[in-house]
Amino acid sequence: MYTREGKYGQTCVVALQNGSVAFSGARQIPVALLISQLQKDIGSTPSLLRFSEVVSLFHEFGHVAQYMCNRASFSRLSGMRVDPDFVEIPAHVLEHWCYESFSLKLISGFHQQEVLYCLFDQIIHSADNVDIVELFKHLHPKVMLGLPMLEGTNPASCFPRCAIGYEASCYSRIWSEVFAADIFTTKFRDDLLNRNVGMQFRTKVLAQGGAKDPVEILSDFLGREPSIRTFIDNKIECSLRQ
Ligand SMILES: [Zn+2]
Repeated sequence: MYTREGKYGQTCVVALQNGSVAFSGARQIPVALLISQLQKDIGSTPSLLRFSEVVSLFHEFGHVAQYMCNRASFSRLSGMRVDPDFVEIPAHVLEHWCYESFSLKLISGFHQQEVLYCLFDQIIHSADNVDIVELFKHLHPKVMLGLPMLEGTNPASCFPRCAIGYEASCYSRIWSEVFAADIFTTKFRDDLLNRNVGMQFRTKVLAQGGAKDPVEILSDFLGREPSIRTFIDNKIECSLRQ
């Protein structure tokens, strides 16, 4: 699934063995290989799929489904060996699931997961004697669109941020994205190499450190109070554009 040096650079499906029926009557099972180029997490930064990658995975999985479901007796009529006008149909049909809100909600768990971790983070730092496994069990189905937590797992064990100095501030990561979107769109997007704006960013924002209230710093740079609107607009625009 993941990209690596020297690996074939396309996302595609390769037939390893077509399904067929042998002389003995036994069925030879179909075997297909889906090759993709997904990025692994970098350190503690989670790697999210771009929308185009989601569509591409759905497309290729449509081919895999066609391989698996094909019941042709002869190998040369099995797998992808269908009429050329037909061969891409299953893949394109599956792509449509990427544009439906119902299925998008089902496969967009990670952002919900950020919310889940933020809630967890707040609760464990504002209450005594919390049973972290029970807390996750309680929060998981509520936040993750009804999905129950996997039995026998403890998601808190892979959540180091609450023990390395970021206690109760998990949510601030999303706030940073909100402010960054506002800064970039308002000041940089239309003129990426503007020296003057770059210097203003340096002196008014970067140079201030922790000495001033961040909203005051950003208001001074932006010429108004920072807003969540750009972040939301950018998210909507990105998902529609892809
Ligand atoms: Zn295809």
